[in-house]
Amino acid sequence: MNIILLGPPGAGKGTQAKRLESLYGFKQISTGDMLRAEVAAGSDIGNEAKAIMAKGQFVPDPIIVAMIQSRIAQPDCQRGFILDGFPRTESQAEALDTMLSARGLTIDAVILLDVNEDELVERIASRRGEDGTRRPDDNPDVVRARLDVYRKQTAPILPYYEKAGRLLHVDGMKDVESVGKEIDAIVAAAKKH
Ligand code: ADP
Repeated sequence: MNIILLGPPGAGKGTQAKRLESLYGFKQISTGDMLRAEVAAGSDIGNEAKAIMAKGQFVPDPIIVAMIQSRIAQPDCQRGFILDGFPRTESQAEALDTMLSARGLTIDAVILLDVNEDELVERIASRRGEDGTRRPDDNPDVVRARLDVYRKQTAPILPYYEKAGRLLHVDGMKDVESVGKEIDAIVAAAKKH
């Protein structure tokens, strides 16, 4: 099963994607994690992405689209994947449709985590990685920039999925396990189709 998780920064996409991966074996594909790995490795992509990410802006679509294209073709994604942080722009949404149809793949569920923005700034400001460190783009100024970019560039793709009757809303303000259970119900319903 292939799933898209949508929602603003801090909505809990990564947490829920990891939960789905461990429960069902669908692979989490996080463009943010992939980019951070490129930055850590000091690759060409990483070097280009580093300053852009630090400002909370978007890495150019062609880079992101190429990353996704090669990732979904890998054997570990054949049981299914969860897109976390992609698509984030209209052009990414269109590129996704094109690459899926070329591979004969479909998306089984598009899930939007609904959250209250005031809460997000707090959630992000207090979150830490497994090693206890804070992401460089999690400081309040950059978080506000990321929310702004989300509103301007990502929120406009929601009607695209909504119109196709494909957008499923989940209340992302509940605790992790309750949100997870709502998503489980969506997965169960999608499996019957
Ligand atoms: P969050 O969802 O918390 O904002 P991510 O880890 O998904 O964080 O992304 C971190 C940063 O990586 C983004 O602010 C952006 O600079 C870059 N990025 C991630 N995914 C994309 C994408 N699909 N398109 C463009 N830039 C991206």
